[in-house]
Amino acid sequence: MIEILNYIGGTLQKSLSGDFLPNIEPATGKIFAQLPRSNEKDVALAIEFAQKATEQWKNLGADGRAKILLKIADLIDQNAEILAQAESRDNGKPLWLAKQMDIPRASQNMRFYATASLHWSNESYQQVGNLNYTLREPLGVVGCISPWNLPLYLFTWKIAPALASGNCVIAKPSELTPYTAFLFSQICIEAGLPAGVLNILHGYGNEVGEAIVTHPKIKAISFTGGTRTGARIASLVAPQFKKLSLELGGKNPTIIFASADYEKALQTAVRAAFLNQGEICLCGSRIFVEKPIYEQFKQDFIRETQKLKVGNPKEETTFVGALVSEAHLQKVLSYIELAKQEGGTILTGGKRIFLQGENAGGFFVEPTVIEGLSYDCRTNQEEIFGPVVTLTPFETEAEVLTYANSVQYGLACSIWTQNLSQAHRIAHKIESGIVWINCWLLRDLRTPFGGVKNSGVGREGGFEALNFFTEEKNICLKI
Ligand code: NAD
Repeated sequence: MIEILNYIGGTLQKSLSGDFLPNIEPATGKIFAQLPRSNEKDVALAIEFAQKATEQWKNLGADGRAKILLKIADLIDQNAEILAQAESRDNGKPLWLAKQMDIPRASQNMRFYATASLHWSNESYQQVGNLNYTLREPLGVVGCISPWNLPLYLFTWKIAPALASGNCVIAKPSELTPYTAFLFSQICIEAGLPAGVLNILHGYGNEVGEAIVTHPKIKAISFTGGTRTGARIASLVAPQFKKLSLELGGKNPTIIFASADYEKALQTAVRAAFLNQGEICLCGSRIFVEKPIYEQFKQDFIRETQKLKVGNPKEETTFVGALVSEAHLQKVLSYIELAKQEGGTILTGGKRIFLQGENAGGFFVEPTVIEGLSYDCRTNQEEIFGPVVTLTPFETEAEVLTYANSVQYGLACSIWTQNLSQAHRIAHKIESGIVWINCWLLRDLRTPFGGVKNSGVGREGGFEALNFFTEEKNICLKI
């Protein structure tokens, strides 16, 4: 049994509660590790260490901090194989995907913010007879809370800018996927990160998570997770006037016009639907296709979906691995049932899969394609966060905009057309923080990342994230 430990004050330790939680491997349904069930006492201890470390970390300057963060990035690369195996085992995602996407992106996050902080500067404003300059000071101790779908990738996406801008951090990965964050704490020790600068606590959101969020010494919260949890956190921190960044759920449209590069649109729509078992906040789960190509697209989409192998995450040929938990599997299956009740037709998939051998107890679901639903039914409005998509035909731009914008979410959108004006028209009118034209998941880490409506508040990425973790002070000087 693997024993996952908290990282507090530079050392690996059990929770002061003495309690553990089981960690289940989604591809087998079996317990393979245990993690500390941390509580407010662990948070208080971690904050004590973090506060002691703030001056030292701040005084290292951007250069000194960057050296350590770059070392962490290098160590992630050196341990990429072990980290990828841990990520795949803990989350259920295919090993090749963890190798290709999650782990390289984690080191990229660290490297990106280590170096971005070297190019980051304060502003000054000159008028006749006076000069204003604006300083940015680190906040002190901040909280970072991340979800289970891209565990190390999203964990580092938050803590890298928080650390690079000179803060000490109390971080909590999801209790469903704590393994790579634990390995990351070992990497931090090896890289010589000063004790207390980063503290990683494991456990339940409503226990240790809320203790982090509500602690008066935590000056900002950067959270990625579900919209409901985001609302809960917002209600807790509002009276404390903390800075808050929320990256929340999505129900993203993929819009395909008849003029699209058909083959590219088809292949990308399949990938956007089912990559990472559909468990990416950016996945395109509502696919709208212009009428003249709808029937053809439908047949081809079904054929391509049926080619996707659901299987053991360790196998190179597996495209769809296991869902993250039994509870999540049941949630996804319940939405497939709901779709049927709402009058939808299951074109392919729709069932749980029971594999053989070591994967017999795993949480596998067939990639599922549904048609015949109205755009405003629950299946088309609520986030399922699994390998389930709907196909809907449309006739006009106005119609597809009504469909696409009808949801409470507004995270990402993918538009497929060869008509340049049309692409821009839709992009301008779509209610979404991120728009991809003739592509999906193409990322430049300098760009603002985040959603509108109930998909979040604030933006990550680029200098925006460094700014978030600082407080501005304007100084006006009469010359
Ligand atoms: P979740 O909200 O259940 O949990 C996210 C994290 O918050 C976990 O670490 C959890 O332990 C913690 N948490 C839960 N309740 C808490 C509380 N009351 N106080 C403090 N912390 C608490 O989300 P999840 O199920 O882990 O992740 C899936 C969701 O995340 C989906 O809705 C998905 O769209 C969203 N997501 C969004 C983005 C984005 O960038 N917008 C990226 C990835 C995932």
